[in-house]
Amino acid sequence: MRHARWSALFVMFGLAIAGPAGAEPVVLEGARLIDGTGKPPRDNAALVIDGDKIVAVGVAGKLARPKGARVIDVRGRTIMPGLITAHSHAGLVTGAANRADAYTREAVQNALGLYEQYGVTSVTTLGLNRDLVFELRDQLKQGTIPGASLFTAGRGIGAPDGVPPQPVAPDQIYRPASIEEARADVRELAGHHVDLVKIWVDDNFGKFKKMPPDLYMAVIDECHKQKLRVASHVFYLADAKALVAAGVDVLAHSVRDLPVDDELVRALKARGVAYIPTLSVDESFFVFAEHPEVMAGDFFTRAVNPEQLALLQSQAYRDKAAANPVVAKEKAAFAVAQRNLKTLHDAGVAIAFGTDSGANPERIPGWGEHHELELMVSAGLSPMQAIVAATRGSAAVLRASDRGTLEPGKRADFLVLAADPTADIRNTRQLVTVWHGGREIQPRVPAPAAAPAAHGK
Ligand SMILES: [Zn+2]
Repeated sequence: MRHARWSALFVMFGLAIAGPAGAEPVVLEGARLIDGTGKPPRDNAALVIDGDKIVAVGVAGKLARPKGARVIDVRGRTIMPGLITAHSHAGLVTGAANRADAYTREAVQNALGLYEQYGVTSVTTLGLNRDLVFELRDQLKQGTIPGASLFTAGRGIGAPDGVPPQPVAPDQIYRPASIEEARADVRELAGHHVDLVKIWVDDNFGKFKKMPPDLYMAVIDECHKQKLRVASHVFYLADAKALVAAGVDVLAHSVRDLPVDDELVRALKARGVAYIPTLSVDESFFVFAEHPEVMAGDFFTRAVNPEQLALLQSQAYRDKAAANPVVAKEKAAFAVAQRNLKTLHDAGVAIAFGTDSGANPERIPGWGEHHELELMVSAGLSPMQAIVAATRGSAAVLRASDRGTLEPGKRADFLVLAADPTADIRNTRQLVTVWHGGREIQPRVPAPAAAPAAHGK
C-alpha cells in the first residue's frame, strides 16, 4: 500500500526512486559465492558493484577495492543470484478469490514489490495480462517505479470455450475463432514486443475444449515470422510431442500424464526447447489441506493476505479438498511430474524455473518460489541444480543475457543469505539483503540471523 502511494507520487513528479545512479561503488567481501553457472561455490569472494552492474568478481583481499568504495563485510554469508520465475501471474486474485476485476495497476505493483522482497528479482507474467502491463514494464525498466523486473506475455491465446478457467476480463486473453484471427492476435502481441507468447493446450481433465492443432500451428508459425517465441501450457505427453514438432519454444508446465520417453527427450534437445516444471501447480491442490505445517511461520504468513490465510487454514477448505475428486488426479500428476523432471534434467534438457504463482489463491507469490526449489530438490535435483534452473535457466528462456549469473557485466541482482542453500535448499529463505539492479532491498521477512556477523568489523 505504502509502496503504491509513494510510486504514484514519484510518477506524478517524474522522479526516479532512489537508485544506484551516482552512488559510490560497493564491494561485498568475504561471502561464499554461488554464481549461477553451476560451478562449485567459491569461498571468501569479493563482488564489486558499480551502478546497477557487477564490475568485478574475485577473492577478498586480492581484488582491488575501487577508490571511495563502500565496503560491506559479508563473512559467514552466502551470495546467490536473484531468483527468476519464468512462469507466474499477477493481478488475478483479490482477497481469497480469482476475480475478473482484479487486474489493476496497484495489484500488479504490489505483487512485484512482494516478489522483490522475497528475493525474486525478475518475474514473468505468462499470460492473462491487461495491456497496462506494457506500461508497467517500461516504467520498471526506467526505474520510475519499484518492484521486481517484469517480463510478460501480455494476454496470451486460448481456444474459444477452452482453458484457462480463471475469470478474467475480455481484454486479458485472446480467444480466436479462426486461424486468420489467431494470426492477427499474434501481430498485435508483436506490436507490444511481448517477451514470450503464451498459448494453452489442455482440456483440464476433459472439462474443456482443447485448442485444435491447426490453430496452435498457425500461432507458432506467425510468432516465428514475427521473431517471437512461444511458451505453451501443457499437461499430456502426446500434446507435448505435437507442440514440439510444431516448433514450440518452451513447455511452460510439466508433462504429467505419463513418463516422458526417449522420443520427447530427443526432440526437446534437438530443438533446444526449455522445460519449466512448475511442480507447485499440482501440489497446490492438496498441500495446504494435507500439510498445514507448510504455512507455519512468518515466511509464509507475510506472503499472503488475511483472507487467503483464513481460507487455507479453515476446516471448510480441508473438507472441500477431501471431497474433491480432482485431488487424487493431481496427486498422481504431481508424482509423474517429479519423476519427469529428474529424467529430463539427467538427460540434459534445458530446465528453467516457474511456479504459476499468482494464478489463484493457492499459488503464493514469493513464498511459492522458495517452495518450488524445495520440490525440485525432492524430485532428485541437487540444490545447486535447482538454483541454476531458477537463475541461469530462466534467464536463458527469457533471452535476458544481462542476468541469471553473477559475473562481470551482469546486473547486480543477488541475494545475501545467512546460510548456504547448497547445504539445505530451505536456506534460500534466510534472506539478509536482496540486491536488485544495484539497489539494496530490505527482505519482507529478514533472516533471524540477519544481525551482522559476530566477527564483522
Ligand atoms: Zn500459468
